[in-house]
Amino acid sequence: MQTWQSELKRFALLLALALLVGRIVGYTLLASMVFLVGYVIHSFYQLWRLQKWLSLDTSHSQTTLPESYGLWGAVFDGIYRLQKRERKASAYLESIIDKAQESSAALEMGVIMINKYNNLDWWNRASESLLGLKYPQDRNQSVTNLIRNPEFTEYFYNENYGETLKVPVSGSSDQVLEFQIALFGEHERLIIVRDITQLHRLESMRKDFVGNVSHELGTPITVIKGYLEAILDHIDDVGKKWRDPILQMQQQSIRMESIVRDLLVLTALETKTPPRTQDRINLAELLSEIQCDSEQVFNEKHHKFILECNPNLYIEGQRNELYSAISNLVVNAAKYTAEGGEILLRARFTEESTFSIEVHDNGIGIEPRHIPRLTERFYRVDVSRSSESGGTGLGLAIVKHILARHQAILQIESELNKGSVFSCVFPRDSVTCVEEPGDLPNINKVVTTRSEDQIS
Ligand code: ADP
Repeated sequence: MQTWQSELKRFALLLALALLVGRIVGYTLLASMVFLVGYVIHSFYQLWRLQKWLSLDTSHSQTTLPESYGLWGAVFDGIYRLQKRERKASAYLESIIDKAQESSAALEMGVIMINKYNNLDWWNRASESLLGLKYPQDRNQSVTNLIRNPEFTEYFYNENYGETLKVPVSGSSDQVLEFQIALFGEHERLIIVRDITQLHRLESMRKDFVGNVSHELGTPITVIKGYLEAILDHIDDVGKKWRDPILQMQQQSIRMESIVRDLLVLTALETKTPPRTQDRINLAELLSEIQCDSEQVFNEKHHKFILECNPNLYIEGQRNELYSAISNLVVNAAKYTAEGGEILLRARFTEESTFSIEVHDNGIGIEPRHIPRLTERFYRVDVSRSSESGGTGLGLAIVKHILARHQAILQIESELNKGSVFSCVFPRDSVTCVEEPGDLPNINKVVTTRSEDQIS
């Protein structure tokens, strides 16, 4: 403001001087015209200097500011100050980028930045050795051209980056890479690559070991169980005092047999890739079958079983696996609920765009601290109670694995002494609702059946 005032004052003073001189010499108009033309020429000259100065490359070398005074001096000063501030900020940013690049270059894992056109922008040294990337040839190349793997391409474009992707390296005997992608900025991506060959080898050794041991234990346990049964049949020959110990041995051999069977199921789930073809299963029929079977097993507990399911729902998956997962949950509900309890099996579309198959019970419930660990192998809340009821501690681990093979997850809600809800949450598109002709479209239409009136 101050500068503008002084400039206006100077302009008025010079104009007055020009008028005075013009008056003295008798050419007032000419003098004022000469002054105005001079002023315009001066302004153009300053603009020309400014433009010339701005066109110099100021990013690398310091350029000297053109000398000026008044309004033009203030304009030059202002622009110079802005330039200085911007230079400082970009130097600071550059130093941060340099540090980030240096630290990620030192990482053992590969880090790759992908721009919004899915081309490689930047990568660290580890990515070069892991993926054979070459600088600068591969810069701006499409990532799926450089990482040629159909699974990676699907993972990259699906944008479902919650899980990591493990890919065996083609041409290498057993090298396995793990990819993880994060989205940032304007649809840019950060890919992290790790060599997990060693981890993978240990993991397969563990699976093989568990599988082999379980397999090898199968025959001895069957033999022991068979002999114990034979002894029990002729207990009078052996002596009555051996009856209880032999009965206990028989119970334990049955438990061992269940553990071995569950371990074999788990190993198969872990090692076999899910079949490509899926069954299309009528859900109400599947749930009804599970309900009937569990009811028969727990007949003496007189539970009330309720089934709520739209009879027109069809789920895609492996029938035997889904049967096993849901029946594990229903059996648990019946096991951990006192006599005369209520067990509800409900299938429904949820508000979160998923589909859930829920098993509700009003049994003993679970303390919150146990819930996150329930799907770990052999984790049991109350070891003695679980062993008494023939539990192996492997049931929920099996459920979790089966659900993962169906892109589903297990959710557990429970309150001690009130009951529990175990929900298998599937992606919405795993389930279709096929309305019978004449039916009104209603995906959550429910048909309730109780123990007495089963769906046939
Ligand atoms: P188990 O064979 O011992 O039942 P699971 O893996 O099926 O093993 O379950 C792990 C533990 O979770 C069980 O030991 C039990 O303590 C608890 N649990 C599972 N389902 C229920 C339920 N419906 N109500 C209460 N506790 C449960």
